[in-house]
Amino acid sequence: MNVKNFAGIKILIVEDDLSSRLYLNKIIEKSGAIILNAGDGLEAIEISRQNPDIAVILMDIQLPLMDGYTSAKKIREFRDKVVIIAQTAYGLSGDMENMLASGFDDYLIKPIYSGQLIEKISSFLP
Ligand SMILES: [Mg+2]
Repeated sequence: MNVKNFAGIKILIVEDDLSSRLYLNKIIEKSGAIILNAGDGLEAIEISRQNPDIAVILMDIQLPLMDGYTSAKKIREFRDKVVIIAQTAYGLSGDMENMLASGFDDYLIKPIYSGQLIEKISSFLP
């Protein structure tokens, strides 16, 4: 498995399912990234506001309080440069349109494997 170096890069993981969140943290922490976590859509917006240096957001779609589409749309209103990657359980084209309209840059279909996650993130980094 290829280990990328994301040292100093701030990544926000938005995931309400605790075991999924721990799994994503485990994969990404090996890369040296600075990880922030949010468990719902409103928290994701709040953390994004407080951390203008977040480079990548991994956004779950089904979230409590506010779903991933709405949350991404709102974050996009004040962060035009951040990379927002959806984690979705669906792989449907209609869903993809909805995602692009909400400001997502790309998506990953669950279950997410470590190799594809790291590759996807690095494809957006310089
Ligand atoms: Mg969820």
